[in-house]
Order: sequence, then C-alpha cells, then structure tokens
Amino acid sequence: MILIDGKKAAAELRAELKEEVAELKSKHNKVPGLTVILIGDLTPSQIYVRNKEKSANEVGLKSEVIKYPDSVEEKTVLEKIQELNSDETVSGILVQLPLPKHIDKQKVIEAIDPSKDVDGFHPMNVGNLSSGYESSIPCTPLGCYLLIKKIEPNLSGKKAVVVGRSNLNGKPMTQLLLKENCTVTITHSKTKDLKAECLEADIIVAAVGIPELVRGDWVKKDAIVIDVGINKTDNGIVGDVHFGEVSKNAKALTPVPGGVGPMTIACLLKNTIDCFKRSQI
Ligand code: NAD
Repeated sequence: MILIDGKKAAAELRAELKEEVAELKSKHNKVPGLTVILIGDLTPSQIYVRNKEKSANEVGLKSEVIKYPDSVEEKTVLEKIQELNSDETVSGILVQLPLPKHIDKQKVIEAIDPSKDVDGFHPMNVGNLSSGYESSIPCTPLGCYLLIKKIEPNLSGKKAVVVGRSNLNGKPMTQLLLKENCTVTITHSKTKDLKAECLEADIIVAAVGIPELVRGDWVKKDAIVIDVGINKTDNGIVGDVHFGEVSKNAKALTPVPGGVGPMTIACLLKNTIDCFKRSQI
C-alpha cells in the first residue's frame, strides 16, 4: 500500500511556489499578496490563520491578517472587502469561516471580487469550475486532486465515488474528477447503500465528518482512497476512513493527520499566485 504523504507533497509544492514567486518578483517587480480577514477568537480559526500566514511568508508572498472582534458589524467587514477589492497590492482575499451568526456568510463570499477569491467559494468561480472554465478552485479538493494525480496521472474512465456533497469539499471534488473524465458518483447522507457504491470505486474521496465511516470491506482492492475528514475522538484525531482496515485493501491511502490537511494551505498559496498571474495578463 502506498501511504500518500501529504506533508511531503505540500513541502514540494511550496518549494515550487517559492521559485515561482521569485520569478514573478523579478519579472513584475512585485509579489502576490494574500489578505486574510479573521473575525472573533475561535481557537481553531486562529491556528488556521497563523499557519496560513506562516506558509505565505515562507514562499515569499506578501501576507496580511486583518482581525476584528466577534461583535464587528457586517457593514464594516463588507466595506473592508470593497477596499481590498480595489487594492492592487492584494491578489487574494480570504475571510476565515465560520463567521459569527449576525454576519451573512453568503453576502461576505459574494462581496469578494471573484478574481481575488482564493477560496473559490464565489458563485462565479463555482459556476466557472462546473462549466470547465478557468477559476479559483476550493483549496481542500484541489489538494485532494493533486494527491490523486501523483498516484494516477491518467484518471480517464476511472470510477470515482465522492462521499459527502458539501460546497466546500464534495461538490467541487466531483467537478474536478469529472474534468478528468472520471465516471463520478456523488453520495451523501440519504444514499441508500453507501458500501455498495464505494465497492464500485477506483477512487474514493471521503469528506463527511463521521469518524472511520468507510470500512475495509467497502473498498475494492487497488482503490485510491483520499480521507478529508478531521474528527476529534477520545483516541485522538481520526479521519472519515478506518485507516487500519482500509490500508489492508487500498492501493494508496492518505493518513490523518498528514494527508490532505497540509495540502490545503499549500493550495491556498497556489491560488493566490494564480490570481496574481491572471491579474497581470
Ligand atoms: P459538511 O458537514 O459540510 O458536509 C458533510 C457531508 O457528508 C454532507 O454532504 C452530508 O450529506 C454527508 N454525509 C453525512 N452523513 C453521511 C453518511 N452517513 N453517509 C454519507 N454521507 C454523509 O462537511 P465538510 O465541510 O465537507 O467537511 C467534511 C469533513 O472534512 C469534516 O471532518 C471536516 O473537518 C473535514 N475537513 C477537512 C479539511 C482538510 O483540510 N483536511 C478541510 C475542510 C474540512
């Protein structure tokens, strides 16, 4: 079984991006800039944002974090986004989710200029991705896609099963696999026989949020299995895939932690650089 090393893949991607930033700097005499808006003091969000800032600095991006208290008015956030939209030194804008209840998440997402939407959540980018046009692609599915391609460069005709249909993970993952000419089944909480669906798959991507949902006898021999889940349990952090059981059948599997997670941030940096490059044309 191939243990898909997301930490190593992310380090390789960051090294490539660092070189690219240096080239862009010498060509344009400026570097891509990432601005993150962080609202409130949720510990996981603070950790994510700190890691994003650290990685952005590591590859040479200009990075900035704007912090607001939980009580900030929606209007203030929307005005700041408008200001960043017209700031030429800002290539990518990310508003860390979740947001406090009094702020309308969709309004915030739609306020971001689609050409600076490094999360790929703006309806314009969602539409472009599903139409097969160039777009920002949500970072976690993009990371999963890059890991799958490392194992199997030609995905044409493969049967893929995506478990979970969230806007963040399942739906964009489906679009990426479709673009590669996979035959894709998207499954969810109302799917009748999830085990039977998974047993058909050459590729399984699990993004559900249920610890160890995908079992060893759900997985065809030689399947590639990507585990997006991050679940806190009494036994520590586990994924949506039963690692011990599935590792006996699968051809390749991502561990949790150390699989998809590290790729998510590296892909955010990639998206920022891609936004910058598109803005220079
Ligand atoms: P979500 O709650 O938005 O969506 C979960 C999806 O799973 C839904 O579409 C639902 O229909 C489906 N589902 C629920 N129960 C099911 C069942 N019994 N069988 C089949 N499908 C079922 O979750 P999300 O935001 O997509 O996150 C999923 C997991 O991925 C979570 O554990 C989250 O922490 C993790 N995550 C990891 C990263 C990363 O960087 N690795 C990033 C984002 C999310």
